[in-house]
Amino acid sequence: MIPLSLPLLEGNEWKYVKDCLDTGWISSAGSYVNKFEEMIAEYVGAKYGIACMNGTVGLHIAQILCGVVSNDYVIVPNITFIATLNAIKYTGADPILIDVNKTNWQMDLSVLENFLESKTEIKNSQCVLKENGRIIRAIMPVHVLGNIGNLEKLIKLSKKHHLKIIEDSTESLGSFYKKQHSGTFGDFGVFSFNGNKIISTGGGGVIVTNNEELAKKAKHITTQAKVSPTEYIHDEIGYNYRLVNVLAAIGVAQMEKFPDLLKKKRIMDNYYRKELSNVGDIEFQEVNSNVNANCWLFTFKTKKMRPLLDYLNNNGVMSRPFWMPMNQLEMFKNDLYVTENDNSSSIYETCISIPSSAGINEQEMREVVSKIKEFYTNINN
Ligand SMILES: *Cc1c(COP(=O)(O)O)cnc(C)c1O
Repeated sequence: MIPLSLPLLEGNEWKYVKDCLDTGWISSAGSYVNKFEEMIAEYVGAKYGIACMNGTVGLHIAQILCGVVSNDYVIVPNITFIATLNAIKYTGADPILIDVNKTNWQMDLSVLENFLESKTEIKNSQCVLKENGRIIRAIMPVHVLGNIGNLEKLIKLSKKHHLKIIEDSTESLGSFYKKQHSGTFGDFGVFSFNGNKIISTGGGGVIVTNNEELAKKAKHITTQAKVSPTEYIHDEIGYNYRLVNVLAAIGVAQMEKFPDLLKKKRIMDNYYRKELSNVGDIEFQEVNSNVNANCWLFTFKTKKMRPLLDYLNNNGVMSRPFWMPMNQLEMFKNDLYVTENDNSSSIYETCISIPSSAGINEQEMREVVSKIKEFYTNINN
């Protein structure tokens, strides 16, 4: 079976993990944590990086620091991984789900704009939903599959309507918008290093920001809000969300190889786009020319998604459908979903992801393409 997406562990991972074990620095204090934070911040061009256990808790902390509290709203796209919405619910806030654009699959900014203009107003310098007066505190754009929508427009709308911006950049390490890295446009950006992401620490995350005070607070509340290095005195409710040194050590090794890995991803993406461009009814995700995407997980649309999915999975090519739209999940059925044409559902019914490991070789890619072509030839006979 050609796997969907495996981590590539060909650098100093063993060496650095062994170093942690040899020296006894396995827990949340240790030089690899600081080093990893610095490497991520430097790579993305942010002033500060704060390592945490995973992307989900990173999104939780970023919201707390943006002042999101119980009964607030946070705006998110209706197509995302569940973690984005779970993190909102942890704060006691509710999501406002915005439908996605049918070509780039990111939050549909014209739907967003119509919603903000018609359904919200500014009261005491805060954006509130007219129908019930509840505060809309923040917006969390998600750079779905490493692609990026029109950030200039999103920032303009957010400023006009007094919304904080937290970029869910968990899938977009290596993705740039007009040469600026994702995650650095808003108040916070959050990256994930889960097993299936473009690089991995097994599990891990880094919050980035340019605001020194918020960076300090982020570190403080992810480490139990302890105020003294030697005494057990704490000044607020904190969290035990810090990344451990052993995992950060893997992250440092992964980052050393990241530029090479990114090149491989882009070669893979080019290959698939070229080979699959006139096959069946396949439609690619549109990537704007001012976006340099990381090509994390190759995904395309086809009306034959279900039968193709079965065919590939039964023929040695691991494939997966896209996330079920958030408004269709039981827990979020009563939340506000703003849409004109429900593009989310048609994207869900047609999108399929195919093997995209950075370590995929040419023979495997050829095999993937040949199975897909075989499928369309068979159905036409
Ligand atoms: C992976 C992911 C997350 C969560 O990251 P974890 O590190 O797995 O907690 C959040 N949002 C999106 C869009 C993701 O893909």
